[in-house]
Amino acid sequence: MGRIFTPTENDFGKTDAVIIGGGIVGTSTAFWLSRAGLDVVLVEMRDGLSTLTTPASVECFRAQFTEPAMAALAIPSIEMFEHFDEVIGLPGYSISIKQQGYLFLTDNPQTVEDLKENVDQQHRLGVTDSEFLERDEILARFPFLSPSVLAATFRQRDGWLSCHETTQGFAKGCDARFFINTKAAGILTDAKGVCGVETNRGVLPTRTVVNAAGPFAAEVGRMVNLDLPLETVRRQKVYIKTSVKIPQDAPFTVDVNNNSYWRPEPGGVLVAWVDSDEPVSQPSENVHTDWEFPAVTLDKVRRLAPFFKEVERTVRQPDMTTSAGFYVYTPDDQPLIGSVPEVPGFFVNCGYWAGVMLSPEAGKRIADLVTGKMDSKDNPLRPTRYKEGLGKKGKTLMSH
Ligand SMILES: Cc1cc2nc3c(=O)[nH]c(=O)nc-3n(C[C@H](O)[C@H](O)[C@H](O)COP(=O)(O)OP(=O)(O)OC[C@H]3O[C@@H](n4cnc5c(N)ncnc54)[C@H](O)[C@@H]3O)c2cc1C
Repeated sequence: MGRIFTPTENDFGKTDAVIIGGGIVGTSTAFWLSRAGLDVVLVEMRDGLSTLTTPASVECFRAQFTEPAMAALAIPSIEMFEHFDEVIGLPGYSISIKQQGYLFLTDNPQTVEDLKENVDQQHRLGVTDSEFLERDEILARFPFLSPSVLAATFRQRDGWLSCHETTQGFAKGCDARFFINTKAAGILTDAKGVCGVETNRGVLPTRTVVNAAGPFAAEVGRMVNLDLPLETVRRQKVYIKTSVKIPQDAPFTVDVNNNSYWRPEPGGVLVAWVDSDEPVSQPSENVHTDWEFPAVTLDKVRRLAPFFKEVERTVRQPDMTTSAGFYVYTPDDQPLIGSVPEVPGFFVNCGYWAGVMLSPEAGKRIADLVTGKMDSKDNPLRPTRYKEGLGKKGKTLMSH
């Protein structure tokens, strides 16, 4: 059972691997490295695991990707979510998984063919249970949607879960130590590569460091003079408590024409939209929200889900809770996973705008790379891919 605690001087000794960052990505990485037999310490600067970007998410997962490398992470990750208690070895452990599907919707005739092509590509990538739906089928399955819809892609096994329980489960299911209130301030190197992590509480000698610092991953990269290609962009969401009847069996529903989305949540609904004009900004632990975000979002989601008109009419300010975090983008919108040749022993697991859903397999991949079970050349998400002339953007929906 992993231990989560604020360390004292005596806890600082030589260790096989140090992970920087205790969000869902770092904690999954700690789990898999510990399961591979390594003595692992994770350092988290805040006073608990999963307290920064991870809880700001809407906690959803999907296999509907069109890029091979993304599908290759998402498919096994969902299988792990489906059998999470077996994966972590704690029978009956619940992550409150709900597989109500992901529905990407359009009412624009010019987007219909794109959706159809996406499903064909998903099938080629092994996501054989995604469906292309036309208007009548959409309205038969989801009668609460607008009759103006034309087409959609849908996969029933996509859905959402509790990020808190998933992160805690990874921590509980392994023997790693999780040092909270412990900030990595520097990374020590010698002629062989990394040799330790300096924190505000002491030094951890180690030959393996994994940067899983979420929005602060570029800052941690600079500790070893690396300029990682990462950009942080603020994203917001709003939970609305409402007495209006929200279809609680609805899927996670996306309007692909205005990048807005919603899903049911007990007592109400979660709504958001991905603003492509939001600028890149400096990462921060205190991410501000815009006062008009709920109104702008409601205006967008009601286009294809007309019951939101009633939500909009009746909602009161105290019933809305807006929160924000950062998406971290890379040049091809796919994460950076793997070693960095310039600094032997330094690994990255960062660059996520969908880190919740990819975290299980991404953490496992780091463990496979560290232990030599996987060769870097077989890992398409290696950070060197841009220099190699690889790493092109795909057609995934919702990243911007
Ligand atoms: C509005 C919104 C909706 C989203 N919805 C989804 C979704 O439905 N599905 C999905 O998959 N993704 C979603 N995401 C993205 C997802 O939340 C992130 O990709 C994911 O949480 C990243 O996890 P992480 O562990 O990398 O980062 P974090 O959760 O930010 O964890 C990084 C940790 O590193 C710590 N840290 C940083 N620097 C240091 C240091 N020097 N020393 C010690 N600790 C340090 C931080 O304190 C932090 O706890 C959403 C994001 C937002 C903002």
